[in-house]
Amino acid sequence: MDGLSRYKEFTMQLLDLIQADGLVPKKVASTNGGEYHCPCPRCGGKDRFIIWDKVNRYLCRRCEKKGDIIQYLRDFHMLSYSAACARVGTEPKLSQLKNIAQRNVFEPKVSEFPSFGWRQSASEFIKRCHQNLFNNSYAVGLFLERGFNPKTMKSCQVGWNPHSLWISRDQWGFSNNEHKKLWLPKGLVLPTFDADTNEPIKLKIRRDEWEETDQFPKYVEIPGGMQTPSRYGKVLDKPIMVVESEFDAILISQVAGDIVTCMALGGASKRPDAEAHALLMRAPLIFFSLDVDSAGAIAYQWWKKVYPHVQLWLPPIGKSPGDAYLAGIDLREWVKDANRNL
Ligand SMILES: [Zn+2]
Repeated sequence: MDGLSRYKEFTMQLLDLIQADGLVPKKVASTNGGEYHCPCPRCGGKDRFIIWDKVNRYLCRRCEKKGDIIQYLRDFHMLSYSAACARVGTEPKLSQLKNIAQRNVFEPKVSEFPSFGWRQSASEFIKRCHQNLFNNSYAVGLFLERGFNPKTMKSCQVGWNPHSLWISRDQWGFSNNEHKKLWLPKGLVLPTFDADTNEPIKLKIRRDEWEETDQFPKYVEIPGGMQTPSRYGKVLDKPIMVVESEFDAILISQVAGDIVTCMALGGASKRPDAEAHALLMRAPLIFFSLDVDSAGAIAYQWWKKVYPHVQLWLPPIGKSPGDAYLAGIDLREWVKDANRNL
């Protein structure tokens, strides 16, 4: 036997790799050099994942992931094409590299932490509005209607801004500025805090005086905040449920924060920043639960391309999880079903 063919004994086998991933494939047939079945590394089950040992290929009958050992590393180990080739010990094919370069690969932006002045002003405003909330039964009622309980109102530091305010931008801690004033409309105040430092990084107000015919938006985001999705709860090893609005994310966290971590994009077309992208890539699963409308459908196409482990999970009725709640759906059961459905 020459050196080269002896080396072949050491080339990576898909079956070995799958076993190293903790799965136990069972041999079900000897045809085509051996067919094995086991649970899918992504979507689970019992025997939906098929491995053809001799040709080193796999197929999941449920999520339809399929390919060779390099594709396996890309699908389930989240390796890039080049990294997967290096792992297997083969040269990446030039044609494949060109293909990948041509498809625009997503490069998330690194978002900046808000300035010290911004954080300080936001902190004071949030505190004040949070105190206002519990002195105003109308505002508390608006949160209760959406399913928030008082404990959640406190832990998320939501609040009530009783009057529209126009303040100078340097008063809010902007250094450079034009004389444009900052608008803090009357309404429900939804802050986002940094998961590690607990400092405010984003601030949104749901306008109380908004009407369908309004020329200004329903939600006003205070400029200077961090351009990152709002996250509720630590990620750890839970699936991430991606929704559109902060209200939905907070509500789902309240009822099922032990099952999923919620991420609110704040708009269907918003993309994750670098930090959120890293968390999403590491998450065991992503449930895509944006609003049921055309913007959500378009966004899903993008998410499916970027995150191979995304699962579509829309509410059974209503446009959003919040609507489903109002229609009487038990959101905790709905989240549990997402996990069961795999
Ligand atoms: Zn699968």
